[in-house]
Formats: sequence, C-alpha cells, structure tokens
Amino acid sequence: NRCTSFLRENLLTIFTIIGVIAGSLLGCGLRFSGHEWSRRDVMYFQYPGELFLRMLKSLIVPLLVSSIVSAIGSLDLSLSGKVGLRAIIYYMTTTICAVMLGIALVTTIKPGKETTYTQPNATKVISKDTLTSDTLLDLIRNVFPENLAQATIASYRTKLIYDKNDTKSRLGELETYQIQGEYQSGSNVLGLVCFSIVLGITLGKMGEKARPLQDFFHSLSEAMMIITGWVIWLSPLGVFFLVTAKIMEIDDFGDLVGRLGKYFFTVLLGLFLHGFGTLSILFILATKKLPCKYIAKMGQVMATAFGTASSSATMPITIGCCDDMGLDPRITRFVIPIGATINMDGTALYEAVAAIFIAQLRKVEMSFGKIIAVSVTATAASIGAAGIPQAGLVTMVMVLDTVNLPAEDVSLILAVDWLLDRFRTTINVVCDALGAIIVTSLSQGDIDKSRALNEREAAPSH
Ligand code: ASP
Repeated sequence: NRCTSFLRENLLTIFTIIGVIAGSLLGCGLRFSGHEWSRRDVMYFQYPGELFLRMLKSLIVPLLVSSIVSAIGSLDLSLSGKVGLRAIIYYMTTTICAVMLGIALVTTIKPGKETTYTQPNATKVISKDTLTSDTLLDLIRNVFPENLAQATIASYRTKLIYDKNDTKSRLGELETYQIQGEYQSGSNVLGLVCFSIVLGITLGKMGEKARPLQDFFHSLSEAMMIITGWVIWLSPLGVFFLVTAKIMEIDDFGDLVGRLGKYFFTVLLGLFLHGFGTLSILFILATKKLPCKYIAKMGQVMATAFGTASSSATMPITIGCCDDMGLDPRITRFVIPIGATINMDGTALYEAVAAIFIAQLRKVEMSFGKIIAVSVTATAASIGAAGIPQAGLVTMVMVLDTVNLPAEDVSLILAVDWLLDRFRTTINVVCDALGAIIVTSLSQGDIDKSRALNEREAAPSH
C-alpha cells in the first residue's frame, strides 16, 4: 500500500514541515495572546532551537573542508575541472537570471512609488560606512585567507573610521575617513572553500603519496554525514522552536501587509517565479526531465532552510538529501558546499529588488547605467553574503552605495527582512540541490541510470 510506504519514507520531512507550520501558529498565538513576552521568555522558547542550530553549525567547517577535498581528490582531475566549470556556469547563469527577474518585477510593480515612508527610529544596523570598492576588495581578500585557523572563526572587513579632527568631514568625502581593517566573527567560508579546492587538486596530482591524507578527509566527511544523520532527527523540534521564538520577538507585524506589503510581495513573487519558472526551465533543458519529482524530495531541506534561515547550516542536510536521491557523492560533496557559499539566487534577487525599492522611496531616478550597476553589485553581494541569517542585509550596503543611498537606509526594509530571509534562503538551497542534479546529469548522463550505477558501486561486492 503506497500511501503507508510514502508516509513511512517521508516521516521526518512531514514532521519537519509540521514543525514549521505549528511553530508559526504557536508563535502567532503567543504574540496575539495579549501577554507581553520579555526577551528572556523568548530566549527560553528559542533555546531548544538554538541547540539544534549549534549542532548543525558545528558540522559546517569540518564537513565543508573534508567534502570538497575528498570529492576533488577522488574525481579524475580533468573530470573535476569539468564538474567545477559546469557548476560555476550554472551558478552564474541562475544568479544573473534571478537579478534580471527581480529588476523586471520591481520596475513594473513599482512598490516604492506611492509608498510614503518616513525613516523608522530603528537602531542603525550598519554602523560603519564602506565603499562598494572596499566591499569588493574584501570579497577577494577573503578568498585568500592568511591564516586558516583564523578563517574558521572570522572574516576580514574593511572599516572606514571617521576622522573627528577634520572639520570638513562629511559622508562621501572619503579623504576624511581612515581606512582600517579588522576581523569580524563568522567563519570565512569563502576562504575555506578556496583553500579546500586547491588542496583537493594538489592531492589529486600527488598520486599515491597523497593516499593517507585523502583517506583522512574521506573518513572525516563520512563521519560528519553520519552525525548529520543523527542531528537531522531533531529538525522537526528544532525548526518548531526557532520559528515560534522568531515570531514572538518581531516588533511590528503591521508592515508585512501595510507599508512594506507591496515590496514584500514583489520579492516573494520573484522568488516563486524564479524557483518554479526559471530554475524549472533550466532543469528541463539540462536533464530532459521534469523537476517536480526531485523538488518533492527536497521537503526536508526546504523546511530546514526556512526554519534556520541559513544555507550553511542547512548544507549537511542538503548533501544528505542528494545522497538519498542517489547522486554521485563525488559530485555532490564538491558542488553543494561551494553552492551553499557562493550561489544565492534568492539573495541576489532580493538585493536588486530592495535597492531599487529604496531608490523609488527616496525618489532617486534610476538610469539604465544605474540599473546595470545594481545588477552587478547585487550579484557580487550575493556571492559575498555568508550563508547565515540576514547576511544579505549587510551586503546590501554595497548595492545601495552604487545608487548613492546611505547605508542606514537598510533600516527601511528591516521590519520584514526576517521573513523574507527565510524565503530567500529556501530558494538558495533549492537552487544548490537542483544544481547538483543538473551538474551530475551533464557529467554522467541520465541521472536515474547513474543512480543505479552508484547504488551498484556502493553495494558490497560478494
Ligand atoms: N540567510 C541567507 C542564506 O543563508 C543569506 C541572506 O540572504 O541573508 O542563504
């Protein structure tokens, strides 16, 4: 009986999705119960979710490094070159499509045109002012970490320090600022990815001599996946508490349907069209198959991405999902960690929509040149954004800077960002997982046949 076997196979996914829904309902119920919830109350509610998130996060660095190194090492070098190139082409194509779709929607719907909006008294999210060029330079700087141990805990950021002694100082006159750099907490995942790729290639070239290290990284990656398999069982409860607490702590719900409603729905519509339109079309073109069957298997991944708002924390689960689909682990362990770090279509789309929305609010004319600048910086901002909650909001500063808007203007969209973040993260991870399928199919032909092959290879020989 197909129904029971479907339920049994997808039990965890069903529970996780129920966790998200129940968390939203309970969160709304508690919020509107009339009781004032203190920060401490919210912290208690969030606590079990926080533990779940910490467990997932502890897996990120060892899993990311070991997966990439062992996957590249075990693929033939020319093959890993091809796989890498295909993945990068896929990531760039989808990101550019996402940005263009976002720009098309926001310039047709014009969510910022009739909205009159005064700056809310929000605390400044971004206290430092940097130029677009600084952010771009930092992006590349972080690709080359000077100290690997440090890269696992912090990434480099340029800071412009206001020079108080200069009376002429004014925002925009860079001479009146001193440029200083500092390390900020949050792993430099981009640097780790880059180093792991180089190490993987080197081990591949070294041949027999590299065996011990390759075996080490291979075992480490397998061990991390086994732990992921255990942690995953906590996901229904984890996302339930994370979502409940998030809804409890939100200041103002009114903006979701009120002043920011049109902007919110423009981004949401864009994400929906990108996920079900653009990505599906690309999928069909590349694999000659319909994506529905595969997307249906990503329920667990989507629910976790929505619950945690972090592509990096979801990465172990995304890899597990690809394993369940029978994709070649050498390919998924190579492309998923990279995708989770640099491929963020949802974020790119949101950055473009948000920047143009703010420009509309501020009545800044958008020339064609400015739109091009927004598309380029939105793409870079999505690559530079870490896979952690609301990272996109921080890299937005760079996009705003290209249209001469101050960094503080991100506070205009702050009220709805917590929810948009969850939707865009979901699209980010779906795009990574679909990418793994597309790259596998382009490299190994029919995915279902290659799956049979992998299963046969994985089966113990008699
Ligand atoms: N939270 C997003 C992610 O992890 C990044 C962002 O857009 O803020 O994918």
